Amino acid sequence: MNWFQLSPEALVVYWGALGLFVGSFLNVAIHRLPLEGETVSKPRRSRCPKCKTTLTWKENIPVLSWVVQLGRCRTCRWPIPWRYPLVETLTACLWAFIAWRTLPERFDLCLVHTLVLSGLIVATFVDFACFEIPDEISIGGMVVAPIASLLVPDLHAGSPIAAWIDGENALNVSRAAALLTCFLGMAVGGGVLIVIGKVGTALYGRDAMGFGDVKLLAAGGGFVGPGAVLLALMIGALVASIAGLGNMLRFFVLLRRRYSARGRSGRIGRSLQVARIAGRYLPFGPYLAIGIGIVLTAWKDVAGWIPLQALWPH
Ligand SMILES: [Zn+2]
Repeated sequence: MNWFQLSPEALVVYWGALGLFVGSFLNVAIHRLPLEGETVSKPRRSRCPKCKTTLTWKENIPVLSWVVQLGRCRTCRWPIPWRYPLVETLTACLWAFIAWRTLPERFDLCLVHTLVLSGLIVATFVDFACFEIPDEISIGGMVVAPIASLLVPDLHAGSPIAAWIDGENALNVSRAAALLTCFLGMAVGGGVLIVIGKVGTALYGRDAMGFGDVKLLAAGGGFVGPGAVLLALMIGALVASIAGLGNMLRFFVLLRRRYSARGRSGRIGRSLQVARIAGRYLPFGPYLAIGIGIVLTAWKDVAGWIPLQALWPH
């Protein structure tokens, strides 16, 4: 089979199917990275997190095994979280989406984009589960970003810095421009969150920003550049505030139900107060990841929505 003779539709399907199996590996990373003593390659074989039974190949088929086993471990009946099929499906869909945007012309961009999105998926689900972003992803991303920029300078196509260094009419981004865009992106991505964190601490007297978020946005900036990373932050903050409101509402409804079950119905003010505090405890990493992912893969579309040129003096 010659990969390059396949039709674009077949490429999307194959790349998506590959993503399904990579998603299965990402699940292992999400489970193991926050744990001491386990790495993605140790132990070698996948096993049930509860009873430690090594899984057979039949129990390791993405999504299908979960459906066939009705979401339970075959040995100990441990309910396998729905996160597992979700991550596999999500990875497959995002890989297919990237293949659709980049293949067959730009296999190099396809590889970089799928690598970054896969890292973002791991960061997202570890942050949701443990309120931390693994250094393997954030610092790893900061190491990979300059390498990827050198190998695939067109990663930064459309960057105002590239237009400034290479000229408006250059067809491809030069390595120098790509590397500069990358480093400026990391500095701006990390720097802006450090500043926001300091302002937040001064205003509210509590740590407003985790350092994991700083490292994650710095890594993201290395892949999307300094202008786009600010856009990623704005998108992330927007989605996070919508999710925050949703979270507050969820707590409010929950509290109301509990109070009315106990026959105490008149405590709306108190429910609202508790819900506001509870709703605040949301990890920010997943929303940063969403912002970075959108800007990275659909940057040109997003840029069309906003008069970004106004932000960049020529
Ligand atoms: Zn088990």
